[in-house]
Amino acid sequence: MAEAQEWKVLYYEDGVPVYACAYHPDRETTLRCGRCGRPICTQCAVLTDVGYRCPDCVAELRGRFYHATPRHVVTALLAAAGLGWLAGLVGGVLASFLGIWSIFLVLPLAGGVAEGIWRAGARHRAPHLHVYAAAVVLLTGILGVFSGLFFLPINLPFALIAVAVVTAVVYRRVQ
Ligand SMILES: [Zn+2]
Ligand SMILES: [Zn+2]
Repeated sequence: MAEAQEWKVLYYEDGVPVYACAYHPDRETTLRCGRCGRPICTQCAVLTDVGYRCPDCVAELRGRFYHATPRHVVTALLAAAGLGWLAGLVGGVLASFLGIWSIFLVLPLAGGVAEGIWRAGARHRAPHLHVYAAAVVLLTGILGVFSGLFFLPINLPFALIAVAVVTAVVYRRVQ
């Protein structure tokens, strides 16, 4: 608990810090891993017979940090391809109707894509998974934008910004 200050504090309540989940930077939580002290949300917490543990400690105790099988990686990347394409299409449509204001809808969209990829891989980590997932989302996202061009006059610059935002969020979250 000595390095408690390295965890992200969302806000202070009566001087007491309320932390963000170490795996979900936008989720507040009061739960902490009993081994390393890392703040974890109820979704990330793993209940072991010695109390709540964070996924990293659980993986470490199992002797493996990366525990995704090739199947998890393939499923996650397939989800990245499908969701990336959809995000490009939806982002493009939003961009053409809302212009710069679409950014407010693109952020939750990006969060949904990242969460979807993470879940498709059953929340298993793999080396460089976030890099591959982001690359797939970028490519299929651009394809999605161009698919939208067939039936709508898409606002191309904002649509591509939307794809870039989704890619960045996936890169940061899927790890
Ligand atoms: Zn831990
Ligand atoms: Zn969490």
